[in-house]
Amino acid sequence: MGDRRNVSEELEEIRGPIPGPQTEKLAQMLRAHESRNVTYLSPEFPVFWESADGSTVTDVDGNRYLDFTSAFGVANAGHSNPNVAKAIAKQTTRLMHGMGDVHPTEARAKLLERLPDILPLGLTKTFLATTGAEAVEAALKTAVIATGKSAFAAFEGGYHGLSIGALAVCGIERFRKPFEAAIAGDTLFLEYPQAIASEPAIARTRAALAARNDIAAVIVEPIQSRGGCVVPAAGYLAGLHAVCKELGILLIFDEIYTGFGRTGAWFAAEHEAVVPDIICIGKAFGSGFPISAAAARPEVMDAWPLSTGEALHTSTYLGNPMGCAAALVTIAEIERLGLVERARRLGLMLGSRLEAFVRYRNVAEIRGRGLMWGVQMRDAATADAVVKSALALGLILLQSGTRGDVVSIAPPLVITQSQLHRATEILGNAIAAAE
Ligand code: PLP
Repeated sequence: MGDRRNVSEELEEIRGPIPGPQTEKLAQMLRAHESRNVTYLSPEFPVFWESADGSTVTDVDGNRYLDFTSAFGVANAGHSNPNVAKAIAKQTTRLMHGMGDVHPTEARAKLLERLPDILPLGLTKTFLATTGAEAVEAALKTAVIATGKSAFAAFEGGYHGLSIGALAVCGIERFRKPFEAAIAGDTLFLEYPQAIASEPAIARTRAALAARNDIAAVIVEPIQSRGGCVVPAAGYLAGLHAVCKELGILLIFDEIYTGFGRTGAWFAAEHEAVVPDIICIGKAFGSGFPISAAAARPEVMDAWPLSTGEALHTSTYLGNPMGCAAALVTIAEIERLGLVERARRLGLMLGSRLEAFVRYRNVAEIRGRGLMWGVQMRDAATADAVVKSALALGLILLQSGTRGDVVSIAPPLVITQSQLHRATEILGNAIAAAE
């Protein structure tokens, strides 16, 4: 399973009350100076992070936790991966910043040449960006340019970031609601096919799309992340691809969360042998250095006019050299450590261990693939209780789901078997405590 020297094997170690005194002190500073919408601060949650290594995180009071979040699906190659850190440090001393669409850098050219090796076949032309939402914006704008149409179809429960353009395709109502008047109102929302067989789901999708003639693209997560680790019915994505082709609509896969080995394939599209027209990537791409991209087939990307001096779409940090250096070595680390295969193998083990939790009254369902799983709890209150009691026991978890009733699991792909075993044990104890 790859060369695993330097991968930390430590377990959790809780030294004092959680949150500890240093966390409490820093929380006061946030309360005073941060927009009050950003950080949820309660007597039991969160803890301030001080450092992280592999699959563990240490807080400012010296407590060490196992991490079942990869910090929002970013640390696939491990927290503070030493080779990524070295590459960023080296790049830092040479060139920290280039010029978006004007004077480019060697790191950018090398990354763009490397990407087609790992992306689904034929997605060879790329727009680099910084955040996931920006990659989504670039994909949506590409679809408008390529089709001459202006509206989008997206899925209920889907999440693509929170900028105004990305909100237009966000299928989680609480994020859209306060901004409804400011975002495009013509998005067609489709049902994500979870509890329905793929054939009737495809027929419904086809009917909904065929009733409109203004849809430039359908954007879909091959497994919904923030929506609560929702896996579509087998065969649906291939059917969706065929429907889009038939109706002249582009298909955008948002693999910002599912990419870079998370589901046991480089990209989740591979599980259904679907090659979308455009793919969005981000999160684990730079191992923590913000970098993202939208990549497309050349015929699609070449709908953009040739730059004659001023790009129609760019940004200050497009192709930032430190981000490109981080991304290049992240790809190399995923290969060197065999993390795609590792996620697949450990995922089978994790899935069968999680399955045992359905014996608990509060657990309704377990679902997932590779190292991306969701524990569907009875309600948001029990999910919240599990996340908080797991933290006190030394395991970091996140709540997800359109109603907040899912506990999501996404460890770094470098997690060792003993760490995975221990983290699952803690999760079981937290679920038992919530009964
Ligand atoms: N798309 C998906 C599937 C995501 O999970 C996320 C973030 O969670 C985004 C887009 C937005 O990425 P960012 O928060 O970097 O803008």
